[in-house]
Amino acid sequence: MGKLDEKAVLELRAKVRGDLLRPGEGTIYEEARKVYNGMIDRRPAIIVRCVDVADVMAAVNFGRDQKLAVAVRGGGHSGPGWGIVDDGLVVDLSRMRGVRVDPEARTVRVEGGAKWGDVDHATHPFGMATPSGFISSTGVGGLTLGGGIGYLSRTYGLSLDNLVSVDMVLADGRFVTANAKDNKDLFWAVRGGGGNFGVVTSFEYKLHPVSQVYGGPMIWPLEKSGEVLKWWRDYILKAPEDINGWFAFLNVPPAAPFPEAYQGKKAVGIVWCYTGPMEKAEERFKPIRAQAPAIDFVGPVPWPALQSMFDALYPPGLQWYWKADFFKELSDKAVDLHVKYGSQLPSFHSTMHIYPINGAAHRPAPADTAFSFRDANFAEVIVGVDPDPANNPKLTEWAKNYWLALHPHSAGGAYVNMIMDEGEDMVKSAYRDNYKRLTEVKAKYDPNNLFRQNQNIKPAK
Ligand SMILES: Cc1cc2nc3c(=O)[nH]c(=O)nc-3n(C[C@H](O)[C@H](O)[C@H](O)COP(=O)(O)OP(=O)(O)OC[C@H]3O[C@@H](n4cnc5c(N)ncnc54)[C@H](O)[C@@H]3O)c2cc1C
Repeated sequence: MGKLDEKAVLELRAKVRGDLLRPGEGTIYEEARKVYNGMIDRRPAIIVRCVDVADVMAAVNFGRDQKLAVAVRGGGHSGPGWGIVDDGLVVDLSRMRGVRVDPEARTVRVEGGAKWGDVDHATHPFGMATPSGFISSTGVGGLTLGGGIGYLSRTYGLSLDNLVSVDMVLADGRFVTANAKDNKDLFWAVRGGGGNFGVVTSFEYKLHPVSQVYGGPMIWPLEKSGEVLKWWRDYILKAPEDINGWFAFLNVPPAAPFPEAYQGKKAVGIVWCYTGPMEKAEERFKPIRAQAPAIDFVGPVPWPALQSMFDALYPPGLQWYWKADFFKELSDKAVDLHVKYGSQLPSFHSTMHIYPINGAAHRPAPADTAFSFRDANFAEVIVGVDPDPANNPKLTEWAKNYWLALHPHSAGGAYVNMIMDEGEDMVKSAYRDNYKRLTEVKAKYDPNNLFRQNQNIKPAK
């Protein structure tokens, strides 16, 4: 590790109100360098735990002037561990989690290091929510900047479709606001282009009337996997936009309230979320229940409870390896392949999800935001997860083989938030026709590629 300029560090210390953490300076550094994926073990030269925009400016200026590799950490959930970097500087936003609701305007302003649970906690008392994901421990930052696929995608679009404005610190240390009026090119690029363009210190989102929903998991035995997947595929392509359900191969948790006959067994599930009128929910679920799920935990549930239902199953520190693709259709042949590989989940935590991204998420055209796959109907993610690092080869091999088998049926690109560090071609295929414009915006706002700990978009020459 190269030595830091101690005089510059002293000056930085005087400038920031947050914490400066360095190797050998106590246990907080050791905690702060951990990210969600237990496979990632990196030792930054310095972590700046920012508390406000001024801290972020000071940290970015320091990293750039000292020629350090710079990582920006939001919720720390990225699979490849983009939020942390060996020998470099981490702009750590984990102390910037403030959320302010404007109930009149139906908007919420969220600091860049917040997690979705912070947002739900703040908006739920107002009976409102904004589209997020399927778990509450994920960071608002990375999830939104890459897309944001969740329970409300079919109803209100991706998280990034609900962005009204962002406040950012750029590579040159300047503070800017980007929205439909100001810095339009930047606003276009951050809606899908990830953390490539600067540090977002706060996000402003539209809110929607979502409070009590009708949702939860339904589970079927593995033998019914092909039949259920085909039914779900046909149903969700035509379903009204106020209903969402994602499909999974999973292991049934070995505990109550799951029936003993299914505990620890491989199975398939659909996790539902209906946001229409509650008095119509039972009626709306009749055709779904006609598929005779073996386990049915679907019912009225407060939105934050649905959002956090799986948090405890996936605590931080597990080993994660994932592969992804978008699909326009799921042919019967593709379903057969899913049945083959989904039946081989290599560990209890491993899973495969298919999220619907039709409905409201289809409304923008592919070039309206950097997120390009508006013509895809499904986002697949194959997730090898286990607590024991010794099982990593098994997880990785399964995920790669599964992906390779399905990839020929895919739309040709993947969701940037659900891939590992898989190289430039993978990034290009995720953005398709939008890639060139992204490189131009990158050249304007980050010409020296300071922000490159991400699914990197190289600045145009
Ligand atoms: C358990 C789990 C569940 C998930 N569920 C979903 C889901 O339901 N839907 C979905 O769409 N995705 C989901 N994801 C994927 C998730 O969107 C990505 O992992 C995302 O990158 C996480 O963002 P983060 O801020 O937590 O991560 P980080 O690792 O902190 O950051 C990820 C990337 O975003 C950048 N970044 C983060 N915050 C900022 C900021 N404020 N300004 C600039 N750059 C920033 C970082 O530099 C990095 O490049 C899930 C991931 C996990 C591990």
